Amino acid sequence: MSSIAFIGLGNMGGPMAANLLKAGHKVTVFDLSADAVKRLTDAGASSAAAVADAAKDVDVVVTMLPAGRHVENVYLGDKGLLSSVKPTTLLLDSSTIDAAAARKVAAAVEAKNIDMMDAPVSGGVAAAAAGTLAFMCGGSKQAFARAKPILASMGKNIFHAGGSGAGQVAKVCNNMLLSVLMVGTCEALRLGVDNGLDAAKLSEIMLASSGRNWTLEVYNPCPGVMATAPASNDFNPGFMVDLMCKDLGLAMDTAVLTQSSTPMGALARSLYVAHQSNGHGQKDFSSIIELLGKSINEPA
Ligand code: NAD
Repeated sequence: MSSIAFIGLGNMGGPMAANLLKAGHKVTVFDLSADAVKRLTDAGASSAAAVADAAKDVDVVVTMLPAGRHVENVYLGDKGLLSSVKPTTLLLDSSTIDAAAARKVAAAVEAKNIDMMDAPVSGGVAAAAAGTLAFMCGGSKQAFARAKPILASMGKNIFHAGGSGAGQVAKVCNNMLLSVLMVGTCEALRLGVDNGLDAAKLSEIMLASSGRNWTLEVYNPCPGVMATAPASNDFNPGFMVDLMCKDLGLAMDTAVLTQSSTPMGALARSLYVAHQSNGHGQKDFSSIIELLGKSINEPA
């Protein structure tokens, strides 16, 4: 079992750190929120007074922070973890941040001959609690081999996407595709219902035809079609529109850096940002169906 420092104990980091404890690791935590720290110390973790104290003398550090600026500050800041960490410590950043920031932090870490991986996750709070996250990792083969057994305590699918930043790129590619699939599925269902079709019947037809995709399989955006989907629970997330907007922004930043053409992703981002500014940021991302017209259950 390893000694692990966990920094960033929010909606995702809290349950991830709890799963490391359940797996028998010795966990030291740090967060700016005293309540978040208390939840973990109540579950058996030790706490540290500062990032540098938490990271000193452990086998592994895991960070789960809101955005790139927090990650740069926690790793590279004056009293950041690079100021105290041992050369043998493995650093894992599971935050979703832009690939350029991930590469910048990794370069500073690797200049000190310390292993680091970006390891963003797919799956929301429920998957974090259940220990079923997917990890998309970027870094050296050696860092991946060291990271895998630790990540296995928090997730079930662990991929090595390539070198530093590759995990972040894989994550934004997947979420950009997901947004496009969701908008397209909503559009097709809306068109069918406007023409008198039953949403459940049309979903059944498309699921057995070439329009089949993940959103139809497990996440139908029409209320009432799939009891377990957020659409049947007032669009409670699930995966929030706010987070989809964040990830689509990162996808567009990534595309600009490489001058990649992403017309569908750009349109999906515009639609999601419009939906967000209409006050729906906290709803599940399948609620984008509401942007396309009146309630799907109303007759055309
Ligand atoms: P959150 O806002 O709930 O938690 C972030 C935590 O980081 C907070 O507890 C905050 O106090 C702490 N923090 C901020 N700055 C800090 C610092 N300098 N030192 C120590 N702690 C600090 O966010 P979340 O929902 O847990 O998401 C974390 C990351 O995971 C984000 O990058 C997000 O995009 C990504 N993500 C979230 C989800 C989801 O469904 N919530 C799913 C996949 C990926």
